[in-house]
Amino acid sequence: MRTGGCVCGAVRYTVRGEPFHVGRCHCGDCRKRSGSTYTIYGHWPLSAFETTGEFATYDHDSFCPRCGSRLFLIDAEEGVEIQLGSLDDAPFELRPQAELWIKRREPWIPEIEGAAQHDENRR
Ligand SMILES: [Zn+2]
Ligand SMILES: [Zn+2]
Repeated sequence: MRTGGCVCGAVRYTVRGEPFHVGRCHCGDCRKRSGSTYTIYGHWPLSAFETTGEFATYDHDSFCPRCGSRLFLIDAEEGVEIQLGSLDDAPFELRPQAELWIKRREPWIPEIEGAAQHDENRR
């Protein structure tokens, strides 16, 4: 069981068990939405995910309407994608298995050893 939430504490969530996928993405959306140069995310089935507090959603991307922390993307079919930086504990000990949009990766960021490297999206 892992817990996470936004920086102001208004939105909290839990995820049970291990994610079925962990990735790092350097795409344009991930850069804009995070305000950083990439995002690190994990996918869990929806049944493993619970949340409390009111969140806002823009284009599937959910965040705290009070403090703006980006939290998760809920997809009825694919499950939930958690922004792993929103987990409470660090390090979270989850290692990306895939890296996406590496053509947009900053040259000073090394590739993740052992992670599949994709120029753009997977598949
Ligand atoms: Zn908040
Ligand atoms: Zn992305």
